[in-house]
Amino acid sequence: MSKPEKLIVDGKRLDGRGPFDLRPIKFQAGVLKRADGSCYLEFGGNKVMAAVYGPREVHPRHLQQASNAIVRYRYNMASFSVEERKRPGPDRRSIEISKVSREALESVILKELYPRSAIDIFVEILQADAGTRVAGINAASVALADAGIPMKCLVSACAVGKADDTLVLDLNKDEDNYGQADLPIAMNQFGEITLCQMDGHMTSDEFSTALNMAIEGCKKLHELQKQALVEKYARGVAPIAVEV
Ligand code: ADP
Repeated sequence: MSKPEKLIVDGKRLDGRGPFDLRPIKFQAGVLKRADGSCYLEFGGNKVMAAVYGPREVHPRHLQQASNAIVRYRYNMASFSVEERKRPGPDRRSIEISKVSREALESVILKELYPRSAIDIFVEILQADAGTRVAGINAASVALADAGIPMKCLVSACAVGKADDTLVLDLNKDEDNYGQADLPIAMNQFGEITLCQMDGHMTSDEFSTALNMAIEGCKKLHELQKQALVEKYARGVAPIAVEV
């Protein structure tokens, strides 16, 4: 893909969005039969599947913790998810993303309720189009709730970046590749930031504005996550028989 001459033209981004707009987002909770909880998410061009198992026995046993459950998170990018075939298996990037994503979610999980057990989160990136780590966290959060894992609240995540000296919410692929900064953020429902990474450069004023933009983005995602869970449980509820 060649570098576009400009990323912002007349205040609009190359995909037609304004600086504060998210890409189209579609969550679907409870899509996998075998997992305890699951969520399929389309976030712009990203297609992500999250599956949760647990609380369940820990293997290998020596990883058990006497006073709480352990949380494991595996982020995996499928070979066919990117333009050039990606070599299968873990690499430095996926190990880093798995670690920070686990940390982003762990603080809301009531781990102390399940000592000596494990909660396993699997995130498969089926199609990648910038912002896969935040997409994975959003899907995983819904899958955890779908699995009935007790949590203080949901976690929502989105990125803010800088392109052509303009702050933009939810970077697209061109902005991610050729922009000046990328700031992925995750936030819980109490407004606590659980993930904050940054690539590139922003001034401290830009950083404060970008953080506020990300917070607004997370609030919108949170509404969509809740809606997906409500839809799943509305689907699952049997009709009530009324005696006449
Ligand atoms: P994120 O997906 O969270 O933005 P990165 O900033 O590392 O994480 O990656 C940005 C984008 O670059 C990804 O969403 C994906 O579209 C693309 N990408 C990442 N790794 C590869 C790869 N191995 N091959 C091709 N494209 C990749």
